[in-house]
Amino acid sequence: MASSYLSIWGPVVEQIHHYLRQQYPKEGCGILAGHDQEITHFFPIPNLDDSPHSFSFEPQAYLETIRQLRELQLEWIGVVHSHPTTEPYPSARDIANWHYPEKSYWICSLKQGHCRLSAYYIRHQQVIPVMYQIIVNR
Ligand SMILES: [Zn+2]
Repeated sequence: MASSYLSIWGPVVEQIHHYLRQQYPKEGCGILAGHDQEITHFFPIPNLDDSPHSFSFEPQAYLETIRQLRELQLEWIGVVHSHPTTEPYPSARDIANWHYPEKSYWICSLKQGHCRLSAYYIRHQQVIPVMYQIIVNR
């Protein structure tokens, strides 16, 4: 079972915020990776939907990222995407489209101008919030 407590490096949070703001007003997305529930890397992936309301990974970039994870011996821990104008909570579409109960699901809301980042597990259509800590001195 995946841990209910995650860690993420401060600089990774900065990278996520920076990238997702660049994609605004469209949704941006990417993969989070690291070791032992500690996220040390963010890999942006172009949003094939090119939409403010949904995302799907561009397949070539997705495959390239999976290859990189293997090469760097990183675990795929989660995904992140932005909600440009809504709360950081999974939409009905998000829940229906997610099929990885063991991977964490991060959403960054840009609704209030700054990024508000929340993490969840989605299992059997159930949304389970996950606590996380930001490790600043990395
Ligand atoms: Zn969403």
